[in-house]
Amino acid sequence: MQDNQQKIVFATNNLHKLSEVQHILGNHFLLLSLNDIGFNHDIPEDHDTLEENASQKVRFIHNRFSVNCFADDTGLEVDALGGSPGVHSARYAGDHKSTKDNVRKLLADLKGESNRKAQFRTVISLIIDGTEKQFEGIIRGQIIDDLRGENGFGYDPIFVPEGYSKTFAELNLSIKNRISHRAIAIQKLVSYLKSV
Ligand code: IMP
Repeated sequence: MQDNQQKIVFATNNLHKLSEVQHILGNHFLLLSLNDIGFNHDIPEDHDTLEENASQKVRFIHNRFSVNCFADDTGLEVDALGGSPGVHSARYAGDHKSTKDNVRKLLADLKGESNRKAQFRTVISLIIDGTEKQFEGIIRGQIIDDLRGENGFGYDPIFVPEGYSKTFAELNLSIKNRISHRAIAIQKLVSYLKSV
């Protein structure tokens, strides 16, 4: 760690996300998790949009700890379903948050549907020196009608990004981490952080 490194809290305890973001941030900033600042509870996220939820999460942490911080929220938005599951992606098949059931429900909802277009969308809300700013990352693609691949998580086995023939779960993780919705939003966040 360098003495001139600025600390910033990422409002998550997902170690995979933390290391992904720290990697892109390089050594300009030292990323701290919720665990690192001694917060081990769920943060409320009860709104109907990704923007409001990301904002709610970052404000909650900022109000409590008065630190520079950011929070993210992601959803899979399917064109033929009017943008669903969207903000409800984690709980699409119910509050038990089962990935298997969510994927099964989505495929059932799209049965017989020829328009398979969809996008992953991430919104990051940042509060730095008391000012809030949002960044968005989108990757377009198609929902296929069976599961392919073992990598990644969530809806990865049924999502083929535009310009590729493999699903996110078949692609090498380093490729996914370079082109994904989250990577795009994070790149915007990092460019901003390096400019302030
Ligand atoms: P979160 O806001 O990152 O927790 O994402 C909410 C839900 O969206 C997750 O529970 C997953 O079901 C889905 N999701 C988010 N990011 C991805 C991804 O990169 N691939 C597949 N599914 C994802």
